[in-house]
Amino acid sequence: MSQNFETQAVRIQTERSQFSEHSTPLYLTSSFIFDDAEDMRASFAEEKQRNLYSRFSNPNTTEFVDKIVAMEGAEAGYAFATGMSAVFSTFAALLNSGDHIVSSRSVFGSTHSLFTKYLPKWNIETSYFKVNEVDKVESLIKPNTKILYAESPTNPAVDVLDLELLSTIAKKHNLLLVVDNCFATPYLQNPIQFGADLVIHSATKLIDGQGRVLGGVTVGKADLVREIYLFSRNTGPAMSPFNAWVLSKSLETLAVRADKHCENALKVAQFLENHPEVNFVKYPFLKSHPQYEVAKKQMRLGGNIVAFEIKGGVEAGRRFLDRIKLCSLSANLGDSRTIVTHPSSTTHSKLSREDRLEVGITDGLVRCSVGLEFVDDVIEDLNQALNN
Ligand SMILES: *Cc1c(COP(=O)(O)O)cnc(C)c1O
Repeated sequence: MSQNFETQAVRIQTERSQFSEHSTPLYLTSSFIFDDAEDMRASFAEEKQRNLYSRFSNPNTTEFVDKIVAMEGAEAGYAFATGMSAVFSTFAALLNSGDHIVSSRSVFGSTHSLFTKYLPKWNIETSYFKVNEVDKVESLIKPNTKILYAESPTNPAVDVLDLELLSTIAKKHNLLLVVDNCFATPYLQNPIQFGADLVIHSATKLIDGQGRVLGGVTVGKADLVREIYLFSRNTGPAMSPFNAWVLSKSLETLAVRADKHCENALKVAQFLENHPEVNFVKYPFLKSHPQYEVAKKQMRLGGNIVAFEIKGGVEAGRRFLDRIKLCSLSANLGDSRTIVTHPSSTTHSKLSREDRLEVGITDGLVRCSVGLEFVDDVIEDLNQALNN
């Protein structure tokens, strides 16, 4: 198989059936059959590599995982029902009671809940560092620290963390570096190349790309994925074959979609940077981004998420949403449709203002997931909503 991303995305495919189909069929089957008692024994003893039951594996989930493994330069992977089940199962499989995590404070909201509400129930504690204080990471590491965790770019403030630097710290202290690569997709950034041990994706976002199904995946070192697989085949967070079929089709077009998303997002970011009603814009490939050099080093393009702050605080942010005509108000991102959200009055309204500011969510911050519409139409909509 070619090492080129686009070819792998299109050509990695489940073995053809006797019907010589061109496109991979949907294997909606919960289980698989055995020839005889010996076949069944050998299969369950894992002397044969084959499908037994779709909680363990299925041709459609295997095709999806094989593609992500190839795209990320990983050794193995497992597909989950959602991004959050990938995050949770990765921690649950690899950590024991008494273990400790060091993580960037800027993580997805539900990951933050996992760290602060649920993992402590099993005596697993997390210490946070701020995205602009990577120099403090080493001081947070304890004898029981097992995992260094980060998301880059971050949701929703679009900060960028230096993955190579984090990997150097992880290696020095014998920690696993686990990276949530959702915002970048495997097309724009490959954390394993910079030393990550495991990479997690919510496939719900740009991988699906059309706001249809949920999914998640963890890929990385084979021995670690083996632990995650054994945990998951017993506890049941598996991706459905239908979702895997949809998502594997989506991967065929990821490169062309991502190129266009990024081109549109850069134009939107440049427009916003020159708008008088905007205080600042955060987009990894704008020179004004605080981590521009790092973004250029580790990302192919800047991604499709633009964060910007409207003058006038919370009320101005709410008024802006009310005036939007073309774009959608929705919690999703990475859709073909442009989506705008105002985190301080919606997704992050339960946090205190101080806690919001810690993760870069200023009062007037808007997160824009730039879609695939004709970009001038998106810019016109943002412009009229800012000007009115
Ligand atoms: C959406 C998201 C998740 C969770 O994924 P789901 O598929 O919604 O469970 C995790 N991390 C990041 C960065 C996300 O944006």
